[in-house]
Amino acid sequence: MTVRRSTPTVDVGGVPVGSAQPVVVQSMTNTDTADADATALQVARLAHAGSELVRVTVNNDAAAAAVPMIVAKLRDLGVGVPVIGDFHYNGHQLLVEHPDAARALAKYRINPGNVGAKRRDENFATIVRVAIDNAKPVRIGVNWGSLDQALLTELMDANARLAEPRDSRDVMIEAMVQSALRSAELAEATGLGHDRIILSAKVSRVRDLVDVCRLLAARCDYPLHLGLTEAGMAMKGVVASTAGLAILLEEGIGDTIRVSLTPAPGGEREEEVRVAQQILQSMGLRSFLPQVSACPGCGRTTSTFFQEMAEQIQGHIRARMPAWREDYPGVENLTVAVMGCVVNGPGESKHADIGISLPGTFEEPVAPVFVDGRLDRTLRGEGLVDEFIGLLEAYVDRRYGRVATPA
Ligand code: SF4
Repeated sequence: MTVRRSTPTVDVGGVPVGSAQPVVVQSMTNTDTADADATALQVARLAHAGSELVRVTVNNDAAAAAVPMIVAKLRDLGVGVPVIGDFHYNGHQLLVEHPDAARALAKYRINPGNVGAKRRDENFATIVRVAIDNAKPVRIGVNWGSLDQALLTELMDANARLAEPRDSRDVMIEAMVQSALRSAELAEATGLGHDRIILSAKVSRVRDLVDVCRLLAARCDYPLHLGLTEAGMAMKGVVASTAGLAILLEEGIGDTIRVSLTPAPGGEREEEVRVAQQILQSMGLRSFLPQVSACPGCGRTTSTFFQEMAEQIQGHIRARMPAWREDYPGVENLTVAVMGCVVNGPGESKHADIGISLPGTFEEPVAPVFVDGRLDRTLRGEGLVDEFIGLLEAYVDRRYGRVATPA
């Protein structure tokens, strides 16, 4: 079992973040925050998909003015997800000039590389003071694309004077770690509690992410937020994020995660939430959704029938999950198998809570259904998918249904 690196617990608007808690899934909107309706709607959709924290950019006066409206609209919709403000360059002004926004946000994300070159520490301290006054936590989020250039230059110069200079990549990673730690030190010196700080260090290459987070984890006990920045689109983004996060999570590093996918035009923003959940569930760290095991198919399955069936069952589970979650506590741990033929079908089906093994090419056109490891019945004919879904519903009701309390 993975042993989490020990951290304090940070309360983010009622969502606890830290090693004693499950790893928290978060996401970020891509609407114009100043458009309160569109942003509230997207936050609600992300929360509905399972995002436990949602970040919005607060980049100008209009966005800051919209924040209290967004939070009020969410409250009216019955959505209580904490909303986090992402600040760059002018956070010290916006948070001071928009006290309602400062109150409405559950956490402030500060990028120490983007708080102003001249009065950096002063601006940073101003944000921290607003956080203290409003009893809010902050995330100090270092990003390699906006790394504190003064610090990087200082470390590069020192490195150049060494008899055997280190690789510039290693110096960049060290600069990210020092930027995060120095900022956390400054935040605490300004009066922010140790248990109100979360750190992150984001880069766009998997190996760099692993190295910088390992280093950060070894040198402090703040909870860490993990994410590969600019992970990219579709498969590339999913695979790169999974590769990086999985290594760190397996080492017990990481208390919140975000998968920064670039949505395809017209694509759903919620995809990043589903991927983050799937990473945690695949690693056995959390359960969000019943898992469908389906074989990849091969020459024994000449039709796409079983692929379509696996998709239909997956779709049914996803569509029913909001209601199931209410009515059937624990249903997220359900396992379902949809297999293409008798080679591995019965074996895999026996390991699932409920499974079906479809007939492969040249096999007898029957589909054995296994329930709790035993052959339950054999289905055949055209209505096979609907029949199996009916069996699935009955199984969920029987196994996870609440025991009726006597009147
Ligand atoms: S279970 Fe059957 S159809 Fe599926 S991959 Fe294995 S051999 Fe092929």
